[in-house]
Amino acid sequence: MPKIFSAKIDKVNEITLETNFHFLLSDGKFAGVTLEGAQIKEIQAFEENETTTNRIKIMTKENLDLETTYTVSKRLFGTSTVEMGAAIRSEEFDTLYYYDGNDLGNVYTKKKTAFRLWAPTASEAKVVKYDKWDDQVGKEITMTQAEKGTWKLEIQGNQDGLIYTYKVKTGDEWTEAVDPYTRAVTVNGNKGVVVDLTSTNPKNWSTKKPALKKAEDAIFYELHIRDVSIQEESGIKHRGKYLGVAELGTKGPQGVKTGLSHIKDLGVTHVQIIPMYDYHTVDETRLDEEQYNWGYDPKNYNAPEGSYSMNPYEPKVRIREVKQMVQALHKQNLRVVMDVVYNHMYSACESNFHQLVPGYYFRYNEDGTLANGSGVGNDTASERKMMRKFIVDSVTYWAKEYHLDGFRFDLMGIHDVETMNEIRRALDKIDPSIIVIGEGWDLNTPLDAEKKANQKNAATMPRIAHFNDRIRDGLKGSVFEERDTGFVNGKSGLEEIIKKGISGTSIDSYLDPEQIVTYVEAHDNHTLWDKLALTNPEATEVERKQMHKLASSIILTSQGIPFIHAGQEFMRTKGGDHNSYKSPDAVNQLDWKRRAEYYQEVEYMKGLIQLRRKYPAFRLGTAEEVHQHLTFLEAPENVIAYTLTSPEKKSKTELTIVHNANKQAIDFSIPNRGKYSLLVNGQKAGTKALAKIQSNEITVPALSTFVLETK
Ligand code: CA
Repeated sequence: MPKIFSAKIDKVNEITLETNFHFLLSDGKFAGVTLEGAQIKEIQAFEENETTTNRIKIMTKENLDLETTYTVSKRLFGTSTVEMGAAIRSEEFDTLYYYDGNDLGNVYTKKKTAFRLWAPTASEAKVVKYDKWDDQVGKEITMTQAEKGTWKLEIQGNQDGLIYTYKVKTGDEWTEAVDPYTRAVTVNGNKGVVVDLTSTNPKNWSTKKPALKKAEDAIFYELHIRDVSIQEESGIKHRGKYLGVAELGTKGPQGVKTGLSHIKDLGVTHVQIIPMYDYHTVDETRLDEEQYNWGYDPKNYNAPEGSYSMNPYEPKVRIREVKQMVQALHKQNLRVVMDVVYNHMYSACESNFHQLVPGYYFRYNEDGTLANGSGVGNDTASERKMMRKFIVDSVTYWAKEYHLDGFRFDLMGIHDVETMNEIRRALDKIDPSIIVIGEGWDLNTPLDAEKKANQKNAATMPRIAHFNDRIRDGLKGSVFEERDTGFVNGKSGLEEIIKKGISGTSIDSYLDPEQIVTYVEAHDNHTLWDKLALTNPEATEVERKQMHKLASSIILTSQGIPFIHAGQEFMRTKGGDHNSYKSPDAVNQLDWKRRAEYYQEVEYMKGLIQLRRKYPAFRLGTAEEVHQHLTFLEAPENVIAYTLTSPEKKSKTELTIVHNANKQAIDFSIPNRGKYSLLVNGQKAGTKALAKIQSNEITVPALSTFVLETK
């Protein structure tokens, strides 16, 4: 029987109608189509030049009222109500329904809890109360319709601990979902929970943070919560947990410091935690089994992940433990950065966003399929006002409630410039020393090129830093080609690329150094050690260690924000695994036996960090200062040499840095400045003179960095 399949408002003046059988377009006025409630201007076949079709566009004379329900009829095919289609993603929709209140989610007080849900396409909405996390049936309470497509409900009394979800009716269908704004969840994040957040604060919880003058003073250390403590040799009691990160004074093989004490000893300033919001993949009810995931599969953005908690069934426990972890890091003078993944969700269709407002929060291609610039199935649509608001609200919530000091935006290039700038502004109101960094890759997502928050548009996003993939790949070879080499492992002709990295000008020579994250290794791709094994199988272990140290030396003496992957200091290996996001602990864990074995290499990294922290010339604050104080010297092939003068007014300190990537020693003339102190010699690094050098003719050993000081 002929019938209408679907009728959807795809533009504010256009309805797409689809039928089960083809019909003739010339079949009477408007092909026998009538629209109740609006006047038709014309109809067109969906595809050009068709005379018979089963899909047409119905253009209306006036814009459709997005709050009215229309009915469409087609002769012989019957009648259908018109649903919201792609018009939900139009500017008109945002203008009509943008809600700017700060009370979305649940607002708890001891006397009552107020719920507000944004669901403009719903015709009814309910709060569903549950007694227990695994209850299948709850008590439904109808919400009242309020302004801008929101729904409200107040429940009197102290609702601390109340388990709830939302239920909405869209079209003829009811769907149930967790409140995207909820700040606490039951096990596996399947239901939201109202909590009195003040009751989750640890003792002496304070907003006092370790001092930070400027972003360029930061040294990042990227850490996965489970990796740091899961190995038995870590000596850490709360293995794999938030509390494991907070343990102090732990020791490993040969008495080496482990965990927090090791990180503190290393001398970094910021610990960047790989996702700790509630993610999908690890089953929190089976924690007695070994499960592993990096966590780039978001489920509930505003609640912490349960698998790192001592008790994921008790919603407040994980909140308190994250705070305890932040507090412990702050006490050791370490700032805390959170890795956030607002660019996609584990599943668009299963996401709470899509269940509550279908079609709004994600980007779609022209053909109606989900955009996939992220490469993991969906892209969120930060340019849409309520998605942007959600991201800004979520980031500021974490910053305030958990006293966080920085955010690292996964695939920032999926987001739009305006959203990133709004996040920066919102964070500045809380604390301007909060650092924002992100992966500003140019990604294939349906957003205008000039709007993408990527490296090309870095100049339009001041005080937001981008990972510099050019120095990363320039140093060791492309991450996409296993055997490709770079400056430290055998390729010539890369001096100019590395120089740009060193001076913080890879992306744009006018960018402020605080906009560049300088790194050679992160959780993604092969570790540097594994890459060197692939690219230089003939090299001896000693040679590979030299290449590795040379790369780290360049990172820690470059302008910008240096970034170290946990374990890089002891030449971390994942046994050749280049994408260990769900690999076992044996691959991912920090190996504290190796930390003991590579004792000298860790000492070297510590020395580089001390050096960087002592001399402000490594941490210049503006592009202008870099221009003024950094001078590259003429150097032989595969050698980079430069001088740094001090930005401090009265200081006559000058540093000379020479990176020799040749497999042989080189003789080199440095500027004649009298007596030099050698601070780094390729084997040792630090702030104390390893030797005094009277001559300006020096010999730099193979695969080594020299840093010399004159006063
Ligand atoms: Ca989870």
